[in-house]
Amino acid sequence: MKDETLFHRYDVVIVGAGGAGLAAALYAARSGAVRVAVLSKMLPVRSHTGTAQGGIGAALGNHEEDHPEWHVFDTIKGSDYLADQDAVRVLCYEAVELVYELEHMGLPFDRTPSGRIAQRPFGGHTNNVTKQPVRRACHAADRTGHMILQTLYQQCLKHRVTFFDEFQVLDVILSQGVAGGVVALEIATGQFHVFHARAVILATGGWGRVWQITSNAHSFTGDGAAIVLRHGIPLEDMEFFQFHPTGIYKLGILVTEGARGEGGVLINGRGERFMARYAPNLKDLASRDVISRAIYLEIREGRGVDGKDYVHLDIRPETINHYFDLDGKKNPDGTPRRITAADIQTRLPDITDFVRTYLGIDPLTQPIPVQPTAHYAMGGIPTDLHGRVVVDAHNTVLPGLYAAGEVACVSVHGANRLGTNSLVDILVFGRRSGLDAVRHCRENGFAPLPKQPEEAARAMLEGLRTRPPNQERIADIRAEMQRVMMDYVGVFREATGIEKAIHTLRALQQCYQSAGIHDKSRCFNTELLEAWELGCLLDLAEVTAVAALARTETRGCHTREDYPQRDDANWLKHSLAFRTAQGIQLQYKPVTILDYPPQERIY
Ligand SMILES: Cc1cc2nc3c(=O)[nH]c(=O)nc-3n(C[C@H](O)[C@H](O)[C@H](O)COP(=O)(O)OP(=O)(O)OC[C@H]3O[C@@H](n4cnc5c(N)ncnc54)[C@H](O)[C@@H]3O)c2cc1C
Repeated sequence: MKDETLFHRYDVVIVGAGGAGLAAALYAARSGAVRVAVLSKMLPVRSHTGTAQGGIGAALGNHEEDHPEWHVFDTIKGSDYLADQDAVRVLCYEAVELVYELEHMGLPFDRTPSGRIAQRPFGGHTNNVTKQPVRRACHAADRTGHMILQTLYQQCLKHRVTFFDEFQVLDVILSQGVAGGVVALEIATGQFHVFHARAVILATGGWGRVWQITSNAHSFTGDGAAIVLRHGIPLEDMEFFQFHPTGIYKLGILVTEGARGEGGVLINGRGERFMARYAPNLKDLASRDVISRAIYLEIREGRGVDGKDYVHLDIRPETINHYFDLDGKKNPDGTPRRITAADIQTRLPDITDFVRTYLGIDPLTQPIPVQPTAHYAMGGIPTDLHGRVVVDAHNTVLPGLYAAGEVACVSVHGANRLGTNSLVDILVFGRRSGLDAVRHCRENGFAPLPKQPEEAARAMLEGLRTRPPNQERIADIRAEMQRVMMDYVGVFREATGIEKAIHTLRALQQCYQSAGIHDKSRCFNTELLEAWELGCLLDLAEVTAVAALARTETRGCHTREDYPQRDDANWLKHSLAFRTAQGIQLQYKPVTILDYPPQERIY
């Protein structure tokens, strides 16, 4: 690392160039009133948003009757009543205008025969009257996220957002209770940079890399969440981490729910369509928590394929058509619905390719082995409806600091997110953060920078870089963390297992303190940055496990085998985890309930 530090000044500094970061940047820059910089540890269009396959949910009603209010109800029910209902309302109503806006920016959505944006069914999205699946997910083949990212990036360039690519943010500068900027490392050179800002927006994405089997990119290491946790800011609802039911067996690579939206079904080792037993109405399109649990139960009861720990996802046209007939699925003109191999190939080109590449099988003629895969962080940095970070149970705002996207918890997903709702979340609350940051800049100057704001981050990184590589290997610590989290803090949890996990995680944190690396160079030292990222993952794993141990109920994706019921009397509340000198401390705050009081969830 070069010793001198470079200083920059921007009104709004955004950390992260995924959908949330780019939406924030675009709407802030379009105001014309502020200078905006986006820092990203990777090239913007490689952000994880680009891997989102299935679609973005918005009640456009292009195929059949639909209403934003139905979307609101489905989201709240899907969240197992833990979502804040004011935030869900914002999400579902603003979704409609944002999808049209993306269309006008040039996003190439698939089309209906009459030229409207095409929509497909997705888990948990229903016609609230008939209780049957509704077509709500707007899609561009199975590359929806890729198209969103490209569209937003181009618009950001047009509106003169400044990008700092391959800059890894290591710290947020907080001075006198106000956000004042960030500290970043230029990955190519090892140079430290301080970005002085009037508003900082964190949009760094999730942390699925805490688990062994995950759909998440290698870069999903929870940097933003870990950074604020270390500053005494709490993280909300960390016990809720979603497992997606259909990861490719052993690899975790996602097969979109859109595959079931197109008619695909889950089949156990006995050839049964087992979801009919667990969710008689929605079957393979029930919410993800319900399906992931069902897969595990099938496997546990010996009905995995060949007695192994996976089931089949069957998207062969003859199987789909067989079940269309059994379910009485019809085209609008009353003829039986039919799907061909060419339809599957056109609508799911990427995932059919993945399966051929990674498994060497053709999903048009053979079923796909799948198992649940760690997928999505419902919890994160607590914010209000404008993306402003709030730091306690009274929702006190930390001026100038914002969070949006998967790293944030507004909370619109509660205990379980519905498919297609994250892409909505990143756009709706990315935009809101960007716009409110402009307002903040209008009303506030630059907070004074503390002396040498980069020193703490530099000391931490130099410590890691210069320690001799001893027997504590970074890769081993990471593998052990991922194993215990998968075994004890995965889909099913119970007290003794979680306690074991916490014990192991604390021991691993000790090992991490003395772990060193081999590469001592300053330029492109990815070993060093991965070691730093492991520190973030370990912190988030511990918070997740501690919050999971405390919540003695089963809600959404948090299944406690020792407490199998949802317990609204004691647990209809959000958790807030603080890191203190005495360890992780938990507080709680109420859930905002408006029109939909908790009911039993039947799918
Ligand atoms: C395989 C897959 C498929 C999915 N499919 C769907 C779908 O069909 N529909 C749906 O609604 N949701 C889907 N999701 C979820 C959704 O895609 C993500 O939740 C969402 O895209 C996250 O967006 P984001 O902007 O918050 O984060 P990201 O897109 O991951 O962006 C994070 C950004 O932060 C930057 N960053 C991180 N740490 C640092 C740091 N320390 N310094 C600098 N920069 C940093 C990264 O470089 C990156 O630019 C899917 C997720 C996965 C993994």
